[in-house]
Amino acid sequence: VLVILAILFFGVALFMSRYMSKKAMIPISQAFARQREFVGDASHELRTPLSIMLSSINAIEMTDSMEEDPFVRKLLLNMKTEVKRMTKLVSDLLVLARSDSGIIEHQLKPFDFRPAAEKVVESVYPLAQEKKISLDFDTPSAVPVSGDPERLTQLLYILLDNAIKYTPDEGKVNLSLTMDKRELSITVQDTGIGIEPEDCTRIFDRFYRSDKSRSRAMGGHGLGLSIAKWIVTIHGGTIGVDSKLRKGSTFIVRLPIIQEG
Ligand code: ADP
Repeated sequence: VLVILAILFFGVALFMSRYMSKKAMIPISQAFARQREFVGDASHELRTPLSIMLSSINAIEMTDSMEEDPFVRKLLLNMKTEVKRMTKLVSDLLVLARSDSGIIEHQLKPFDFRPAAEKVVESVYPLAQEKKISLDFDTPSAVPVSGDPERLTQLLYILLDNAIKYTPDEGKVNLSLTMDKRELSITVQDTGIGIEPEDCTRIFDRFYRSDKSRSRAMGGHGLGLSIAKWIVTIHGGTIGVDSKLRKGSTFIVRLPIIQEG
């Protein structure tokens, strides 16, 4: 019996030591990679149920059997807002998880950025109109750059959407594209609420929001600017902000992506 117990004891001890050492021996880089994979997989898996929920809510809204009860309508509207908010959060998390693990391919190719920028301005125009914000766009007749069109479009959208979101009614937002021989500068200026000086660098961190309750009320979750920063970084550029509380903010992006020749 003693021999069997001893064998069992050593067996368990051997297993534990192997298991523990294996756990302890996972290199940090591998642990991070697993964590990123987990976030990526989780975000991916969450997208399908969210889109089913959204289409179900839309379908309920359209049914004749749907009671004209304002309370029920309000609850449905709340559900829709939250599902949309969560869908945006999940898709932003997916972009960041993929960017961390280098899965997203970004091919820099020559294209004219002007029409792409015009499309973004058109797409945010209704948001500005809703708040009676004047939206101006200054650009040269052509903006030949070498970059990833999809990502640069997303970058503009994030900056303009924020500028409109954080600018009170009847304010001003201006987008300007300027080029010199070496770089393209994208400037998004607003007459909005401004940013505390100590927050001006932190707002590019993930999930950082200068004023959490205000940002949440506006549908924000603090990932837009970290995606913007990633996009600028893969293009070898810089992004910064100059801001005065209650006066407004100016985001400046500099990208060394002027086409040759
Ligand atoms: P969010 O989804 O919260 O807008 P972002 O990453 O895009 O997330 O922005 C982070 C924070 O930076 C915001 O919560 C807000 O506090 C601040 N911010 C961004 N853009 C502006 C702006 N144009 N004016 C004032 N504050 C801004």
